[in-house]
Amino acid sequence: MSSLPIVGHLIGGQSVTTGSRSQDVFNPATGQAGKRVLLADKATVEQAIANAQAAYPAWRNTPPLKRARVMGNLKVLLEKHADEICHMITAEHGKVLSDAMGELQRGIENVEYASYAPELLKGEHSKNVGPAIDSWSEFQALGVTAGITPFNFPAMVPLWMWPMAVACGNCFILKPSERDPTSTLRIAELALEAGLPPGVLNVVNGDKEAVDTLLTDPRVKAVSFVGSTPIAEYIYSEGCKHGKRVQALGGAKNHAVVMPDADVPNAVNALMGAAFGSCGERCMAIPLVVAVGDATADAVIAGLKAEMAKMTVGSGFDAKSDMGPLVTKPHFEKVKGYVDQGVAEGATLLVDGRGVKVAGHEHGYFLGPCLFDNVKPGMKIYQEEIFGPVLGVVRVKTLQEAMDLIDAHEYGNGTCIFTRDGEAARYFTDNILVGMVGVNVPLPVPVAYHSFGGWKRSLFGDLHAYGPDAVRFYTKRKTITQRWPSAGVREGTVFSFPSSK
Ligand code: NAD
Repeated sequence: MSSLPIVGHLIGGQSVTTGSRSQDVFNPATGQAGKRVLLADKATVEQAIANAQAAYPAWRNTPPLKRARVMGNLKVLLEKHADEICHMITAEHGKVLSDAMGELQRGIENVEYASYAPELLKGEHSKNVGPAIDSWSEFQALGVTAGITPFNFPAMVPLWMWPMAVACGNCFILKPSERDPTSTLRIAELALEAGLPPGVLNVVNGDKEAVDTLLTDPRVKAVSFVGSTPIAEYIYSEGCKHGKRVQALGGAKNHAVVMPDADVPNAVNALMGAAFGSCGERCMAIPLVVAVGDATADAVIAGLKAEMAKMTVGSGFDAKSDMGPLVTKPHFEKVKGYVDQGVAEGATLLVDGRGVKVAGHEHGYFLGPCLFDNVKPGMKIYQEEIFGPVLGVVRVKTLQEAMDLIDAHEYGNGTCIFTRDGEAARYFTDNILVGMVGVNVPLPVPVAYHSFGGWKRSLFGDLHAYGPDAVRFYTKRKTITQRWPSAGVREGTVFSFPSSK
């Protein structure tokens, strides 16, 4: 039996640490296991659902302003505990601390937005839709809702989901990534401290068994998912099959177009952060640059090579590090395999990060930044999501050629264009088949009061994540039509369909 500390579940406000299945949680900078996370079985997930179901009637009827105040309290607690939370993220994910701070801040902004729920839940009212008849629409909670989240934003992505769900009056079961579960669980504990009643938010750690229980249990009314496309597609079809409302956000392969008139030094700086920030493990990362014209490609490559030579790869806890390790050994092997594949496919490897060594961290999952030229559609490194620090340059002759490539790609999460030409930028933003578009902004991640979502195989479902769409996703519209006849007035029977004619 392992002596590592256990990461358990949070059910009905209580820590639950019983269960027979578990797996190691590694520190990717050292390759050492630091904890073991429990993998919930069906019965444990059912216990969480039962707790959520029991907490629902009282929470649903709690005035929205009181629910919102819990979000206000949570924001303060998250700010107070930011260092502790970000250390947990870096220890299990590997990203540099400043990046962990950025993700937590974006998560806090979602908590802040959820505290406006009373305003956002206000319905629509019409007086005198007929003689002495008033009508209104209101947005009612769904009941027990669930979220399944990926490893790459263990604080932020869960905060995209459950704060708005519970602020709208739902109860929630969160199933975080088993690869870096500690910060997610800690934030849920802080939610209890902030005043969330036990059972309103439950966290079950686990794998497919836990997810499948959430997808099939009839008490769960809606499921939000963020992760890779094959699993997103599975979650969407299984969840829909079982009568649930589902939004499933999947993978990405985001292209950045650089036009001949772009401010190249600015574009290069932006691309560096977008390609190599968080070791490329972001769904909005830029793994492909589409350079319009050979002169543009040559200038961008020269700039990238110069900047890449200055990068420091190391532990996320080292303030000098620009980039930490990849999340797990299998993922490291997979990303390295893509670099091998790119070479075999005939792309030109200009910067090779495969041999990087970090002193004192010989067992860490470090891969240095990699740069390919002459990447072409059809190559695996063009088509597939690598999710690592591998940037490819594709050479095209015109903006239209660049846009045709982007439109033909299976993913449509994010994209951006670097240009000084307003007309080109407007044509691009108007026509490109991608859900989130930047103009001289490499990571156009919407702020908390807009919604986040890709197109094509980057999102299954209709409503995007967080922002105004979240209020619609986590509520059901009900429309009430009401007449109070004056005393003594008798209405005659009407057999024709009521109308305002
Ligand atoms: P993943 O799909 O492997 O896992 C996501 C979640 O699904 C985890 O909680 C995991 O436990 C669960 N899961 C994994 N396999 C499952 C299975 N067979 N059945 C049921 N559940 C299963 O994704 P990941 O590796 O944790 O995260 C990286 C992926 O997430 C990338 O593809 C990235 O693009 C994507 N992502 C997308 C967005 C977005 O907003 N579109 C945001 C962040 C990450």
